[in-house]
Amino acid sequence: MRAATSTRPADAAVGAVDTHCPYCALQCGMTLSPAGRASVRIRPRDPSAGGLCQKGWTAAALLGSPARLTTPLVRDGGTLRPASWDEALGLVARRIKEITAERGPDAVAVFGGGGLTNEKAYLLGKFARVALGTSQVDYNGRFCMSSAAAAAHRAFGLDRGLPFPLADLEGADAVLLAGANPAETMPPFLSHLRRATDAGGLIVVDPRRTPTAERAALHLAPAPGTDLALALGILHAAVADGRLDHAYVADRTTGFEEAWRVAAAWWPERVERVTGVAAADQRRAAAILSEAASAYVLTARGAEQHATGVDTVGAWINLALALGLPGRPGSGWGCLTGQGNGQGGREHGQKADQLPGYRRIDDPAARAHVARVWGVEPSALPGPGRSAFELLDALGTSGGPSALLVFGSNPVVSAPHSARVADRLAALDLLVVADIVLSETARAADVVLPITQWAEEDGTLTNLEGRVLLRRRALAPPPGVRTDLEVLHDLAVRLGQPPERFPSDPETVFTELRAASEGGPADYSGVTWDRLRAGERLHWPVPRTPGHQGTPRLFLDRFAHPDGRARFAAVDHRGPAEPPDEEYPLYAITGRVLQHYQSGAQTRRVEELRTAVPEAYVEVHPDTARRAGLCDGATAAVAGRRGRVIATVRCVPSMRPDVVFLPFHFPGAQRANLVTNPALDPVSRMPEFKVCAVRLSPAGEREAQ
Ligand code: SF4
Repeated sequence: MRAATSTRPADAAVGAVDTHCPYCALQCGMTLSPAGRASVRIRPRDPSAGGLCQKGWTAAALLGSPARLTTPLVRDGGTLRPASWDEALGLVARRIKEITAERGPDAVAVFGGGGLTNEKAYLLGKFARVALGTSQVDYNGRFCMSSAAAAAHRAFGLDRGLPFPLADLEGADAVLLAGANPAETMPPFLSHLRRATDAGGLIVVDPRRTPTAERAALHLAPAPGTDLALALGILHAAVADGRLDHAYVADRTTGFEEAWRVAAAWWPERVERVTGVAAADQRRAAAILSEAASAYVLTARGAEQHATGVDTVGAWINLALALGLPGRPGSGWGCLTGQGNGQGGREHGQKADQLPGYRRIDDPAARAHVARVWGVEPSALPGPGRSAFELLDALGTSGGPSALLVFGSNPVVSAPHSARVADRLAALDLLVVADIVLSETARAADVVLPITQWAEEDGTLTNLEGRVLLRRRALAPPPGVRTDLEVLHDLAVRLGQPPERFPSDPETVFTELRAASEGGPADYSGVTWDRLRAGERLHWPVPRTPGHQGTPRLFLDRFAHPDGRARFAAVDHRGPAEPPDEEYPLYAITGRVLQHYQSGAQTRRVEELRTAVPEAYVEVHPDTARRAGLCDGATAAVAGRRGRVIATVRCVPSMRPDVVFLPFHFPGAQRANLVTNPALDPVSRMPEFKVCAVRLSPAGEREAQ
């Protein structure tokens, strides 16, 4: 029943292999030279583009880690015990059939990840819709990029993180980064901003003085949850100071008058009172951007992870449109995608409302096209399901799913209000987790399936500039593990699907993905693995037209709306869903550190990274710490309405006195997401990770241990 796998012996060296990093969306190129599982040498392929960060350099450590899972586990009498693949998959298939027979197909849910390859994301979405027949599928990218995606769709009619090649940024004289900290999340990216930095054109919007803000000519530090007001203030300053690009606005956009009607009420002095950012600095930001020959506005999670995330990103896009930046060579707006395949992962159907090729699942023509490729009737495809947090929140409830399959995600640590999510997972009749290590979510599972990791399998990813990359296998997986594609194939067959409908060879899956995406917004039909092997740099859309070289720059002639024009959005400031009050007087904001990635399931198991940052901390202004009875190095309790986080105090004089910062990579009582607010953006359904109300106090004696 199992699909064919490699016959190469485990640990076999296959010579030097050019591939890409397993972590973030920059997808830095690296060459792997394996001399055995425990000894894989990594070299950057492009040192001039910034090389690799510490995460990339140490990525091979996990390949030979003793933490690696190599046998399936099944829960027996409350504990997980080793099992054969046949027993584990047989159990999963049997329970799925029973639960579906009793409660219908939507009783089984699927949760994917933005780190899965395009092939895995595609097959996972197909598995959910065809093999399970469930609408209940979504993924953790909903937590990362969905607000920027929705804002880009609204403004331009299409979402591709950077609608221009990364290298274009090297010619920029001015760059505004709204809620981005690439000095820690993707350090090599800074090499592309060298010119703007040297020219005094780097503007950073962040409540913290991050390592990125340290490099900026202008650091704007708004109160958390007020970024939208700040964007309105800078737009107001630009228009009032005569910087509006009238010709561009008239020729290439619609909706300016409505957007301006809102922004006209947000003059910089009023914005200063709301955000704390000096009016003069707002005017200076507008001047720097409008006077530069080449300027970009780039947004990231700091702008997105709010209950107003779509409108906040929309406000930054409004500013870029007013200055005439998008769709012009050497200028633009873009979103810095976070997860390794955050871009491709949102294009190929693991999202609740979507089919491959970035098609909408409620579009009859899209359903007919994809159903034809899949060999099923369009009416057999379910409709849209719940978004990520709503899905997790419904697990084990009377109307929600009672089984969940998790691929490439660790929601016990990474989802907001994580104690609630852990409770919901515990209420399931069946939890299945496919992972490389025993993550916090895997620990709670009924069945754990050990899978291959990045250097042990082939697949494609789409990086933050919409370029399709081939990540190549450098060494054979250890005995006992399978690829996600093999797992999906085997389960689908056990659920009664014809084997050929769920191929497990990644290149075969990609060939099918090409057909499914053909004619869609994210058209991959002209991309082949042979073209990628030959080193072609292909940015989607790449139609099947012979000789088509892809689309490095979008929107040069027209935007993707039917009239070819970009849309201003009439957006207004609303403030955070949970502002501080007497009981919880501080803002808590969350973010990343240089050494760790996402929930930390991988990086916390790499000794060099764990030693550098072994545990959670809370950054706080020294005066705020003192008022709470704390000092540097003390153990604090950061308490909010949904829980409390235990972390070591780091006194940082540059912190705003009304803000504490928590990195979110740590488990147990150190989980930042114990306090985060699951208030959702009404359009993207992205939770408000970036701001909630807390109070700070010394941890109890027990908690501090
Ligand atoms: S910047 Fe991102 S892709 Fe590059 S080495 Fe670091 S984690 Fe990997």
